[in-house]
Amino acid sequence: MKDRRELEPFRGKPTVSADGTSYGLLCSINKPDDAVRVLESDCEGVGLFHSEWLFMGKTSVPTEEEQFKAYQKAALILKDKPLYIRTLDIIGENEMPSLCLANEPNPLMGFRAIRYTLKHRDLFKTQLRAILRASAFGQIRIMFPLISCVEEVREGKALVEACKAELAAEQLAFDANIKVGIMTETAASGIMADRLAKECDFFTIGTDDLISYTLSADRNSDETAYLCSVYQPSVLRIIKNIIEAANRCHIPVSMCGEAAADPKIIPLLISFGLTDFTVAATSVLRVRKCIAGWTKAKADEIAEKVMTFSTQKEVENFLLNQILP
Ligand code: PEP
Ligand code: MG
Repeated sequence: MKDRRELEPFRGKPTVSADGTSYGLLCSINKPDDAVRVLESDCEGVGLFHSEWLFMGKTSVPTEEEQFKAYQKAALILKDKPLYIRTLDIIGENEMPSLCLANEPNPLMGFRAIRYTLKHRDLFKTQLRAILRASAFGQIRIMFPLISCVEEVREGKALVEACKAELAAEQLAFDANIKVGIMTETAASGIMADRLAKECDFFTIGTDDLISYTLSADRNSDETAYLCSVYQPSVLRIIKNIIEAANRCHIPVSMCGEAAADPKIIPLLISFGLTDFTVAATSVLRVRKCIAGWTKAKADEIAEKVMTFSTQKEVENFLLNQILP
């Protein structure tokens, strides 16, 4: 109750730090109807639409028309608010009977996401055409998942251009200037962020995968869970590298996953230069309030100290002592 009283004054307000810097505060969704909940939560758009939900459990692949209707629905609900649609990211053979995936020994590191769609061009083009057609109805962006090299971005963007040419020839409407970016969630994309930023209109840090791939530790295993922490100095360094690369190329960079709503991590993200936060609908007002409490100078002080530590424990203990929940 007290919590609610403290958060309500932040409803309907922009997301701004104590020294006046504006941030985007976005949510992630699985289904078009979830966009209604996003608006109710006072969020400023959708930072991650998990498009794989349109494919899950289906016996056949959704058609261009089915996908177009789903993306259009979300865009119309959101009106002029941004909608970042992540292209298909499938993991493992069980989720998608219609795609007949092989049973791989290590599906998280396997034939998934952009790797799969670039090799199944008809399926990929169907999705890209549907997204492009829906882009005539809102502020849609195309986001490629699990990018691990520049070639993947270039190939994906070439397919977007091919789809635009087809739609133009068919006299179907789309946003000719649609923004195309990537999820930076592999260690390779973190290391190559400076080069990737030159090829992209935006970055979205997929913290869950990024942590796992940076530590080479399965995020779903009880035995390796102790390694999978955003407080690992290696993870903080790679996040900083990604954000700074985006800043140097003047492209927006958002972070999703639990870490983006962690009050101990938020000052670090402000200091590094994150521009947008993608959080759960239930965290929107809490994150807005937290951001409002920081100036860049104060956040820099915290970040400077944190980046001198060598262990996860040192980072975590320092942040616990400095930052009240
Ligand atoms: C992430 O990796 O943080 C992410 C948002 O993607 P996924 O859906 O794989 O968790
Ligand atoms: Mg991911």
